[in-house]
Amino acid sequence: MKHLVVATRNKGKILEIKALLTGLVDQISCAADFVDFPETVENGATFEENALKKAREAAIYSGLPALADDSGLVVDALNGRPGVFSARYAGADACDAANNVRLLEECQNVPENHRQAAFVCVLAFVTPEGVERIFTGRIAGQILSAPRGEGGFGYDPLFLVDVFGRSMAELTLAEKNEVSHRAQAFTRFRKYLEAME
Ligand code: IMP
Repeated sequence: MKHLVVATRNKGKILEIKALLTGLVDQISCAADFVDFPETVENGATFEENALKKAREAAIYSGLPALADDSGLVVDALNGRPGVFSARYAGADACDAANNVRLLEECQNVPENHRQAAFVCVLAFVTPEGVERIFTGRIAGQILSAPRGEGGFGYDPLFLVDVFGRSMAELTLAEKNEVSHRAQAFTRFRKYLEAME
């Protein structure tokens, strides 16, 4: 593919997505590369709805194929919260640190053996011609009771990755991109694009 717009301003996501698209796309543009890129109102009830909404608005605005990632943390003991509210768990425009403090508070009385959680990623690919496809990925883990590691972004320091036995923030970018929810969704997207070409 020649040119793809990735509908996000999240710097952590952009870093990972650029690595995950290596060799697949000639030119990648992000929201910050445009003057007045649409600020999609993410009021969907599901990751799918929000991802589709972002990708549709980006494709219409740019006239280019667009990819949107809607993702978040789903904690079993919190009935799936923060879920679609992951980016604004501690309030509108909350930073990662504030969201992590809120997560620690909500989980403080959850016993060690009930801390199962998952990161979920839903990718929506939409073209100006009206093609719409969804790709998903999920990784299982446990919520830690204190942050560990300096890498990644968002809730990574509080998420113990079952397959590694380390927090997501203790993984290198390459390790995270081997196993993460986002990596799994991108593997499916990559296969789709390769089959199209
Ligand atoms: P979105 O931009 O509405 O998709 O919100 C995604 C939010 O979910 C981010 O702001 C993070 O808080 C969280 N999130 C998504 N993916 C990751 C990840 O790979 N690591 C840590 N947090 C993530």
